[in-house]
Amino acid sequence: MRTGVIGLGAMGMPIAANLHQAGYLAAAWNRTRAKAEAFARQTGAAIASTPVELATQCELILISVSADQDLLEVIDALLSGLAPGSVVVDTSTVSAQTARQVAQQLARKGVHFLDAPVTGGVEGAKSAKLTMMVGGDAVVLERVRPTLEAIVQRIVHMGPAGSGQMTKATNQIMAAGVNQAVTEALAFAKAAGLSLDKVIEAVGGGAAGNWFLSHRGPTMVRDNFTPGFRLALHHKDLSICKQMASDLGARLPVIEMTLIHYQRLMETGYGDEDISALFRLKQKLFEGEP
Ligand code: NAP
Repeated sequence: MRTGVIGLGAMGMPIAANLHQAGYLAAAWNRTRAKAEAFARQTGAAIASTPVELATQCELILISVSADQDLLEVIDALLSGLAPGSVVVDTSTVSAQTARQVAQQLARKGVHFLDAPVTGGVEGAKSAKLTMMVGGDAVVLERVRPTLEAIVQRIVHMGPAGSGQMTKATNQIMAAGVNQAVTEALAFAKAAGLSLDKVIEAVGGGAAGNWFLSHRGPTMVRDNFTPGFRLALHHKDLSICKQMASDLGARLPVIEMTLIHYQRLMETGYGDEDISALFRLKQKLFEGEP
């Protein structure tokens, strides 16, 4: 399937590279042209000069941009080039409401839309081992599945438009809770004078063991907070989750607390670090700071 990629960021670049390697990539486009040119030099892939030019060349467009407003801008920029029957798959993390709005906007032109956020981070994007949670028409998903399988390990169809993003929000709330638990517990272990490598080894194999502890534990205890998953992006996601919870009539403590903590870290210049930089704040709890 002739596929185009829009957005060559930390996620979009390896996604496009894997599609190129599998022979599906017709072309890619990035707002900052220098990034697209660097991608073309590295991989030999073609780049388009505008989103419309990309749309006219492709049956499938994959999008990876930052936030809701960016997705809406990209859709507007694409619209006049999209042929009826073509498919747009958005892998960005945005609100379910925005996903439904885009699905309706594209449907009016006979274009299919799948909200298809991913988990697995930059490592997963590079190794084509992402998990994709998809909202939208199951028949359309089956049409594009063989192409998507070049970039993901697992695809789960969740239901109608927006349900992919609702599932991703669930994931982000859970990730916040795991981050809170792991960083707080390791700060406790550090204050108690334990060997943190031994703690990670001992605890990692039991009921409290988890991916975040085994992958980010060893780096965070060495004050290495290289992303990974950028804290400012998780803050953006949790702001979306907060709105979604509010739409369901609730305020969730894990979301509210983590937003406050991330805000503090962003204000002190750590927004571009991995989310495990929360360990910085948790250590302060043992220095008498709230
Ligand atoms: P990133 O490195 O900051 O890249 C963002 C990309 O979006 C860049 O290519 C940027 O273009 C483009 N973009 C932003 N606003 C745009 C606009 N208005 N019009 C056109 N292009 C625009 O972000 P990322 O880490 O790749 O994340 C992309 C999406 O995937 C986000 O929604 C994020 O939440 C989600 N996600 C990220 C991870 C992760 O671990 N990083 C994991 C799962 C999901 P420029 O180059 O011109 O700035």
